[in-house]
Amino acid sequence: MNISATEPVLKLDARKFRDAEVTADGEPRASVDLTALETLWFNTGTLCNLTCANCYIESSPANDRLAYITLEEVRTYLDEIAREEFPVREIGLTGGEPFMNPRIIPIMEEALQRGFDVLVLTNAMRPMMKLAAPFRDLGRRFGRRITVRVSLDHYTAKRHEEERGEHTWAPTMLGIKWLAGNGFKLAIAGRTRWAESEESLRHHFGTLFQAEGIPVDTGDPAALVLFPEMDETVEVPEITSACWGILNVNPGAMMCATSRMVVRRKGAAGPVVLPCTLLPYDPRFEMGATLAGARGAVPLNHRHCAKFCVLGGGSCSV
Ligand code: SF4
Ligand code: SF4
Repeated sequence: MNISATEPVLKLDARKFRDAEVTADGEPRASVDLTALETLWFNTGTLCNLTCANCYIESSPANDRLAYITLEEVRTYLDEIAREEFPVREIGLTGGEPFMNPRIIPIMEEALQRGFDVLVLTNAMRPMMKLAAPFRDLGRRFGRRITVRVSLDHYTAKRHEEERGEHTWAPTMLGIKWLAGNGFKLAIAGRTRWAESEESLRHHFGTLFQAEGIPVDTGDPAALVLFPEMDETVEVPEITSACWGILNVNPGAMMCATSRMVVRRKGAAGPVVLPCTLLPYDPRFEMGATLAGARGAVPLNHRHCAKFCVLGGGSCSV
């Protein structure tokens, strides 16, 4: 999201997104029921080797607001999934850069051994390559049950580096080719921030991947995920319960209908469950320490709910 401290912030309507029950106009606020918990995300920690211009979670080599999740903490939630018979099929791992978490390989192994698919989001740079040997071993043992989604913001080095900084293109391309060469199931996350049509983006990514021998079907929205920007400086409407019908949007398609995310805040006694990956810092979205306690409906009481999910069609899962 565009939340750089140096950017001018427009004056937003402060009456909006205050009350979980009603909008500023007194209309009933839309909420999303948990239809089935299918993907449980863990934020592995916000530290990252990069400081991207528009990182939605403001990660950097210095941001440790979300601590490294531990293997023991992950096990607690995997145990709860089994005990409570949640229909989880996929464990998602996001950061920061997940491969900076010192326990990332055992965490993935634990989830895979228990029968879950694993989706890990990475920039495929040095932190991942430092773990090349054990990660390759995991790939050999669990094959296509691991999906690695690599952020490649644009199909040109110039625009990718505009977002990620100088000298970030070549190592990421090397990482992607290493993943492809070792048989990992690959997905790519691009951005739409340059106001280029989706058709054009998919076409040009496809040309690049064909030339580089990267096996990603760019026509498949799950294989090439294109994220809209989350601009906090833009005014957005609040979503009322009537909006689903008016906009013809299915609440069940929102990420929080089928997902939850576990985070541990720096200095906190233990982890807490949030509805999705998109609101990691807003304490109003904390749903308690357990998955059982996080079964309730989620009021769409944040700008991202409106801008990114209901109006923007964003989703973080594959
Ligand atoms: S690599 Fe990802 S987590 Fe790290 S700063 Fe960039 S967008 Fe954020
Ligand atoms: S940001 Fe999206 S997924 Fe998260 S709570 Fe709001 S609507 Fe749900």
